[in-house]
Amino acid sequence: MARTITSAEESEQVFPASLRLHLDPAYTSFGDQKQVGYFNPQAGWVHAREATFAVPDEAQRLGATVHSNVTIDKFLMTETHGKPRVCGAVASDGRQFHADHIIVAAGNWTPSLLDRCKLLLPPGLLKPSAHCVLTLRIQPEVARLFRGMPVVFDMNTGMYAFEPSADGILKCAIHGTGASTPTPNSATNAFPPADQHPHVDAMLRELQNMYPLLRLGEPDSPAQIHFTRICWYCDTRDENFLIDFHPDVDGLLVASGDSGYGLKFLPLLGRLVASRLLHIHNDSAIVPDHGLSAHQRQVFSFDHHQHADARVNVNVPIDSMRIGDLPPAKVSSSKL
Ligand SMILES: Cc1cc2nc3c(=O)[nH]c(=O)nc-3n(C[C@H](O)[C@H](O)[C@H](O)COP(=O)(O)OP(=O)(O)OC[C@H]3O[C@@H](n4cnc5c(N)ncnc54)[C@H](O)[C@@H]3O)c2cc1C
Repeated sequence: MARTITSAEESEQVFPASLRLHLDPAYTSFGDQKQVGYFNPQAGWVHAREATFAVPDEAQRLGATVHSNVTIDKFLMTETHGKPRVCGAVASDGRQFHADHIIVAAGNWTPSLLDRCKLLLPPGLLKPSAHCVLTLRIQPEVARLFRGMPVVFDMNTGMYAFEPSADGILKCAIHGTGASTPTPNSATNAFPPADQHPHVDAMLRELQNMYPLLRLGEPDSPAQIHFTRICWYCDTRDENFLIDFHPDVDGLLVASGDSGYGLKFLPLLGRLVASRLLHIHNDSAIVPDHGLSAHQRQVFSFDHHQHADARVNVNVPIDSMRIGDLPPAKVSSSKL
């Protein structure tokens, strides 16, 4: 059962026995107003890459045609009753795709793609923010000690780390204030390395504090940096998704605004988007996994996000509601 952790004994119990002997006081100093923890045994992690590949595989199994490695450059437009309407998209290699409806789900590239196509969104509605991910390769005999480790999240810094994968890759990142630079490159979807990013050092320091057995920075450390990457969130002011028809163009549905937590909603997002597309409403709590509730229709709407300024303090950074006190990192594109 999910529970708060208020003692060293309770904290140790959530870690595998193999790791308990190696836990730093960061994990064992509880009680006496030191810190409070929270543990949810039903929480876990998924392999992001495998989960993402599973989606187009399943779509194809259900009869969809998937065109990979296609970059959409512009939309084909027509007009109905004096209002513009999309009727297709044109790829950078000149191929044309005709459609009654188009769903733009281009992640952090969504605002720039719509801008390039002159389908402007109100400024600030969707904002890419750059983040840094760090992976370490841990020698098998040490990686084995981490088997069964829960995902850990430090609410003071926003740092989170996963159990090493079967091939000994430990992944961590900081869910904090992202940087406004570099902006995502619309010409390529590659994720640049982030070796110079100040958060890399911050994460290595914190990992060393959490798991001294890694002896990071020492010549005989059992862990080496595997890779670093810059990747982006597409933020909305209040971190609700944007899943709605474009207000100025018929037939164009925008599904974006992941705000850094799109992956954990992967199994749900298709239903949410399809429900908006097909106008499936469901205000009953009896069958919750069908259609959009009135609340979802509201908080995912353009109207909601356009008026978010009135509800959220716009004088503070867009992602200030995130926990973590590491300062935003400005990284110049030339370093990447
Ligand atoms: C460091 C880091 C850690 C994260 N950790 C977590 C986590 O622990 N849990 C969690 O839930 N989420 C996490 N996320 C967030 C998660 O990755 C995103 O929320 C999610 O990927 C957003 O999904 P999306 O489909 O909106 O966009 P994306 O996954 O970015 O997909 C957009 C797609 O559109 C394509 N595209 C863009 N432009 C075009 C174009 N012109 N033509 C054709 N295709 C185009 C891109 O190639 C891409 O495949 C993390 C993100 C980062 C950066």
